[in-house]
Amino acid sequence: MQNDDLEFLNCRNMLQAIEVDLETPSRAQVAQHLGLSRTAASAIAQKLIKAGLVTELESVRRGRGRPGTPLALDGHTWHALGSAFYSGAWNFVVINLLGKVVESRSIAITATDPSSVIDTLITGLLSIKESIPYKLIPGFGIGAPGLVDNRSGSIFRADDLGWQTIIPLKEIIETRTGIPALVMNRYRANGLAEIKFGNHNRSHNIIYLGIGTGISGSIYLDQVLMNSTNYRLGHIVIDPHGPLCGCGQKGCLQAMAGEGALISYAEQRKAQEPGFLQKLDGQQITGAAIAALAGSGDQDARSCLDQIAEPLAIAIATLTNAIAPDEIIIGGPLGDLSSYLVDRVRTLVYDRILDWQSAQMPILKGSQGPFGPAIGAATYVLNNKMELLFTQGCSS
Ligand SMILES: [Zn+2]
Repeated sequence: MQNDDLEFLNCRNMLQAIEVDLETPSRAQVAQHLGLSRTAASAIAQKLIKAGLVTELESVRRGRGRPGTPLALDGHTWHALGSAFYSGAWNFVVINLLGKVVESRSIAITATDPSSVIDTLITGLLSIKESIPYKLIPGFGIGAPGLVDNRSGSIFRADDLGWQTIIPLKEIIETRTGIPALVMNRYRANGLAEIKFGNHNRSHNIIYLGIGTGISGSIYLDQVLMNSTNYRLGHIVIDPHGPLCGCGQKGCLQAMAGEGALISYAEQRKAQEPGFLQKLDGQQITGAAIAALAGSGDQDARSCLDQIAEPLAIAIATLTNAIAPDEIIIGGPLGDLSSYLVDRVRTLVYDRILDWQSAQMPILKGSQGPFGPAIGAATYVLNNKMELLFTQGCSS
């Protein structure tokens, strides 16, 4: 068993020390950090180097004595494959242990029923696995739509897609491919990428809110993703008399501030007021089109985003009072695209909370872009690389 396997634990602890706790440490520094003898630390380091997880950088002289050889993650050997459902497509990325994207692809989805969506996913995963020249950690990272149960890897429901029965996604993928699947909600995955690669190192408690056709998010406490419970930030009730949500409640955040709410508000105003959103005449109204127009200063587009900014601000102010994060990130397709929306939400949130709360809590725009959720899903694989690579010890 991995849990009482001393060699496995030593390797995992040393990898954590090299990856997170210390910066390009020498063997002596790692030994000191982990409370091991230098001989034991060297032996473990050697195993990690042989397994392709750690590499030695060029020797540097630190003060007097023998020069130390810094250890770092090996960016060349192992890679992780992640995929995520994003704006009508499955996006795929391959990243190395340092998080660098070495391959990215996108496959459009033509039908949104569960079996078509899953078929496209599996076809994509297998074709990428077969065609890339990289060694893959044996696990597929999946950023799925909807409410994903962490324990079973099943989608309980995805209201924005009209999926209301349980879909055992992890089981389906593992049965059809023979490879372990690590499934999480796509915006929870996006948050994972944001925290790891978005330069938020100084914050310990973060709320990431992804806004697209659905709304969901991730919460980090003491820099650890809360991933063992099925919290649903998109279904916080904002207005008990508001529009009906796919979940059956009225006035959920998702029903009031998702892309669907934005588009239906824009279409209604357009039908009632001649000349409203004139620049979009003859085009399909999408969240991306409204965000782009608002960015160029168009007042009509801005008034549409104002409409969803308020429920977002109410939800964020409520979460702030409950959790008091150091930082809030607004991402997902709409958050990533619209500085105007994020600025507007920030103003409205600061109006609703106390000065000392707002002084300590920046509200920022997501930085990961369209491949963010797929990068996050691959990051999920990286976070579990030891367990995926070794059943016993840490020798490959
Ligand atoms: Zn709901």
